[in-house]
Amino acid sequence: MSRKLIDGSFGIKTRAVHSGNEVDKETGAIRRPITMANSYALPYDPSDLNWSSSEGGIYTRNGGANQRYLEQKLTDLESGEDCVVLASGVSALSAVFFTFLKSGDHAVFSDNTYIAAYRLLHELLPSKYGIETSMVDTSRIDEVRSAIRPNTRLIHIETPANPTLKISDIKEIAEISKSIGSIFSVDNTFASPCNQRPLELGANLCVESLTKYINGHGDAMGGAVIGNSNLIKRIRQEAMVNQGATASPFNAWLIMRGSVTLPLRMRQHNESALEIAKFLESRKEVRFVDYPGLESHSGHEIAARQMQGFGGVMAFGLEASNDAHNRFVSFLRVITSAVSLGHDESLIVFLGENDERRDLYPEHFRKGFFRFSVGLEDAFDLIKDISQALDKTFPR
Ligand SMILES: *Cc1c(COP(=O)(O)O)cnc(C)c1O
Repeated sequence: MSRKLIDGSFGIKTRAVHSGNEVDKETGAIRRPITMANSYALPYDPSDLNWSSSEGGIYTRNGGANQRYLEQKLTDLESGEDCVVLASGVSALSAVFFTFLKSGDHAVFSDNTYIAAYRLLHELLPSKYGIETSMVDTSRIDEVRSAIRPNTRLIHIETPANPTLKISDIKEIAEISKSIGSIFSVDNTFASPCNQRPLELGANLCVESLTKYINGHGDAMGGAVIGNSNLIKRIRQEAMVNQGATASPFNAWLIMRGSVTLPLRMRQHNESALEIAKFLESRKEVRFVDYPGLESHSGHEIAARQMQGFGGVMAFGLEASNDAHNRFVSFLRVITSAVSLGHDESLIVFLGENDERRDLYPEHFRKGFFRFSVGLEDAFDLIKDISQALDKTFPR
């Protein structure tokens, strides 16, 4: 497959536009088409083919055209050697865990993560497959170090973490991982490659939920793992060909299209989120705001070192009861109460004091809090919306 000469010497905005796209050879269209086909024409004598091959040209579960184009772009954006695109962010996470862990192995992972990472590493893999796991506060490097065992094969972190925005030091953990020869994977969903590139900081694998910022429009699910060719080849075989976590060509095409504007969108998310975080910090009804871009954030120093921007997600809590938090949400007119993040529209979720993982969150989160994903609306409209909802929740 010929490629446009878009290499690492080009800026990230140029790569987001051009990488993975080519003039279509058949029609001359300057956009690659959507190839909604399950199968590809076989050669004259197919008897020598490896039916599990993911080289392409057999069957879409083994790798389709649109998935490949997106893989090229994500490889470029994350500074990797190769990428595998899968059906969702969770399929990308389970691809890493199931490919690189076997019975008797040990994994260390962040105590604050996306819920499915917690389910897989804390419950499913230990109880069903005899895999040992240690859930630690990876924002504290000494806790990572002391969790290491002779059979530690994987260290998996999420930074910034969902939903608390905890920050872990990628470079420091990469050094620990390297010294013991384990695989180090980083869930980079909250940052996106515009704000943070874990592979450049020493991680072996970078996981993305494409559902969030990379697609950015809230209309397609996808996941990806980026890393060196050998590791990605194994994931492609095991998770995609043999476990079937393949992304649909249409979703890959949508994500390819959405990702063109990723750098511009991230710039706006970063800018608006900082402005809104500062506004929230100034309101006396707001009990706390955790946003890595604020100097008051415990991970600010590390975030400033390893990130190019602080992203669009923050957590905050009100000086109020659980019910008042729900009332606040009911007063919002622009911001939507729904899960997910990184969409064009602002989304808010209330995680109440009965949240299942409450004891794993930092102390100040335990009375209930919002995860707030700042969208692409005018920041002044969002501030106005929050402001009027606060006034109604706390009548004078
Ligand atoms: C949403 C999310 C995931 C899961 O992605 P899906 O595409 O919803 O499967 C994984 N990690 C993080 C940090 C997320 O926010």
